[in-house]
This record gives sequence, C-alpha cells and structure tokens, in this order.
Amino acid sequence: MQGLVLYNTRTRKKEILTPLEPEHLRIYTCGPTVYAPQHLGNLRSQLFADLLKRVCLVEGFRVTHVVNITDVGHLTDDADTGEDKMEAAAKRSGRRAEEIAAEYTAQWMRDRERVGCLKPEVLCKATEHIAEQIELAQRLEARGYTYRITDGIYFDTAKFARYAEFARLDLEAQEFGARIEKVEGKRNPADFALWKFAEPGSKRQQEWDSPWGRGFPGWHLECSAMSAKYLGTQFDIHTGGVDHVAVHHTNEIAQSECGYEVHPSAQFWMHNEFLSFGKGDLHEKMSKSKGNVLVLADLVAQGILPLAFRYFFLQAHYRQQQAFHDEAIVSADTGYRRLLAQAIKVRDAVGVCVQEQLAPYQARFREAICDDLNAPRALAVAWEVVHDATLSEVERKTLLLEFDRVLGLDLATARLEEAAQERDPRIDALVQAREAARKAKHWAEADRIRDALLQEGIEILDTPQGARWKKR
Ligand code: AMP
Ligand code: ZN
Repeated sequence: MQGLVLYNTRTRKKEILTPLEPEHLRIYTCGPTVYAPQHLGNLRSQLFADLLKRVCLVEGFRVTHVVNITDVGHLTDDADTGEDKMEAAAKRSGRRAEEIAAEYTAQWMRDRERVGCLKPEVLCKATEHIAEQIELAQRLEARGYTYRITDGIYFDTAKFARYAEFARLDLEAQEFGARIEKVEGKRNPADFALWKFAEPGSKRQQEWDSPWGRGFPGWHLECSAMSAKYLGTQFDIHTGGVDHVAVHHTNEIAQSECGYEVHPSAQFWMHNEFLSFGKGDLHEKMSKSKGNVLVLADLVAQGILPLAFRYFFLQAHYRQQQAFHDEAIVSADTGYRRLLAQAIKVRDAVGVCVQEQLAPYQARFREAICDDLNAPRALAVAWEVVHDATLSEVERKTLLLEFDRVLGLDLATARLEEAAQERDPRIDALVQAREAARKAKHWAEADRIRDALLQEGIEILDTPQGARWKKR
C-alpha cells in the first residue's frame, strides 16, 4: 500500500504524507478561544486532529502535537475592529480575563479527555508567548512588510505576492472592500493587525509593552510564533476548522513565510468541516454567535455517553458537514453502547489467532484510515468483525482492540454498567441536580437526592466520565 494519503487544502489534492524528518511528524492545531464554553462544534475540530494523530501513530510515526490556547487578541470582527473576545467577556461578567480563560481552558481539556482525545505534547497559551510574537512582528518590520497607523502595526498584504493563493481569494470582492472602510489608514482591504495599541485613556486587563507602544498582539500572530517555537519554521501538518482558511490561516501563512523566509511553512494544511445544528434544510453552523450551541455536559445530562459523541463524529468524514440533532446523537449513543457490549463479550478471550482470518480486516481497516482518514468506512469494518461468525472470540477481540487505537472508543476498558445504563429522563435529571448541588457545595441537598434515589433502588456511581446510575 502506498502509505497515508491526506487531503491538503494548500494544493487542493490528496497527497501522500512524507514526513520532513524521518519517522517524525510535527502537527499544529488551532485550539480554542477561551472566553466561553467550548461547544460540540469546537470539539469536532479537536476530534478531527485527534483522529489524525492516532492514525499517524498507528502508521508508526512519532508525533509531536502542539495545540494553542487563544487567551488574548481574538477580536469579534475579522476586519481588526470590534472588541477582544476575552476583554469583552471580562467586562460582561465583572471577572478577570485570566480567571475566565482558566475556567474555559479547564472545561475544554476535560471535555477533550472525556471524548478520548490524546493529550497534546505541547499546550501553549498566547499570553505566555508575547515576547515570541513581538519578535516575529519585528522580523516582519525589518523585512519591510509592516506599516503603522493610529490603532496598530499592520501587515501589508500587497507586499506578499502569494497572499491570495492559499484560499484562492478574490481580493477585489465586496467582502474585502467593506473591510478597508472599517479601519482608517489601512492600505489594502486584507491587511491585518500584528500589534494593536491599547486605546489611549482606557486600561485593558491584558496589555503589554512593545517596541511600538503598549497594546496586545493580533490574533494570527500567536499561531505563527508558537508553531515556529515548538515545531520549527517548517513542519508537517497544520489543522483547524474550515472557517480558518480565508482569514486566520491565510494570515498565518503570510506572517510565517515572510517572517521566517520559508515556503511552505506547513506542508499540509487540513481542515474539518462544520458541525451544524438542526435537521434537513434547517441546519446551520453550530456557533457561539448564532447561539445554537450545545456542550458535552448537555449530552451527558440527557444520558448520552461522552464517547458516544466520538462515535457520532466517526460516522461522518471530517470533510463533510455533519448535522447534529437529537435522533442522530441518540442513535450514535445506541450504536456505541452496542459496539461496546460486543467488545466486552470478547474482552477476556484468550488463545491463538489465525493470521489469515485477521489479515483481510486489517488491510481494509488500514485502507480506510489511510484514505484521508475515512472513519465511517473504518467503523463499518469494525462492525463487520462483530458480525463475522467465522471469527473466533480472540480474533474478534484482537481486531477490535487494534482498531480502537484509531477509533479511541475505549473498547478495552469502558465498563458495561455504564454502557448498559438505562435511560430515564427523570432519574437523569435528578442525578444532574445532585451533581450541580455538589458543585455548589450544597452537600445536604446532594445527599438528599442520593438518598431519595437509593430509596427507589437507584445507585449513583461517580466515574471519571461524570455521575452515572444503575438499578440495584
Ligand atoms: P474558536 O474557539 O472559535 O477559536 O474555535 C476553535 C476551533 O473550533 C476552530 O478550529 C474552529 O474552526 C472550530 N469550530 C468552530 N465552530 C465549529 C463548528 N460548528 N464545527 C466544527 N468546527 C468548528
Ligand atoms: Zn491558529
């Protein structure tokens, strides 16, 4: 077989992945902006990067995976106007920006883990890399790519001949025309801020000194500076959601290629499609600005297993839009519970496998994942294994656990009572109420709910995946 083939946004083609360094892959993923809870759509972008990482590992590569945390500089408008999302959240809630960032970073990390994402080798925050970002802006300045206007230091996109190439942008289009009017003094509509000045007379919570004056870095700068720091100025794969192609990644490429004098900065650029919300013609992107978001805890509150969301994710190819609605997630939950129950049945099997029995399944599974991470096809192969009566238990176990290194569904250790948990909205709601009471340190209330459920013969189990219940 030819190896791992991935769709590269940069070339608009499927290409064979050949690492720049022998047997080592360096991957950078755009992470969360931590001003609000990370929703299921954001989680899809993490699941995609995790699937990629797992496939790379199974293919025998060593992987260095860097994920960033955006905790400053992401404005509410791509045209470099609008408020910094972190500052705005701090103002709204009367809290410190760092406190908000810490809360939502923790939520994101917890949810990521609950859906089985492997820990990145490096997790880096924008606010902890201000010096690196200033250094890159200085490199750009020294090479003549920048200019200064009243509100900040800008990148002159006209100086970078390949600017429109990556996203196949039409820079004459209206969308860009509208942008130039928003910031006075901008030379070209697509120009973007590298450093924004703190507004005179007002004190931001997050601002730093720089060679150009006090202020804060533009959003795109962090990813260029931190990827170079941890992965080098040229690395293998950069991932993110499709919404990043036209602005964030286009600007990152401009900064990295001009500042570090390389081309390309990342060999492969890979993008997941959106998770949308709703059914049929009515679905639209799940996004904080549309207010149609759900977080993982909302699913758990409905009795959905966190890993069922991963199973749901695996049911669509990452480059397809995936519609989220009740029936779809409930059916994924049922599917996951069934698959897990089948894995549990053979978990303790011992004996010898007949290699010829395994080989065709192994080949087809590998073919699927190496064809641009075709998870739905890989999942279908796992189900064929379950249904093949000619396989012995130990053969079935061997295949399922091997596949699970990619699927990440915890088929080796997830517990039956959790998977087999009955669904009862009333009991689920009580269990959630007890969780909320415990969180608020209302111990008496938490105990009251637990005791009332015990009276009914329902026992609450506190697991790393959250509270579960079972009939005694
Ligand atoms: P943000 O916290 O908005 O910076 O987004 C974090 C990541 O989630 C980015 O890579 C986005 O492209 C991605 N993302 C945001 N909304 C969705 C969605 N509905 N479906 C899939 N990915 C998304
Ligand atoms: Zn980024």
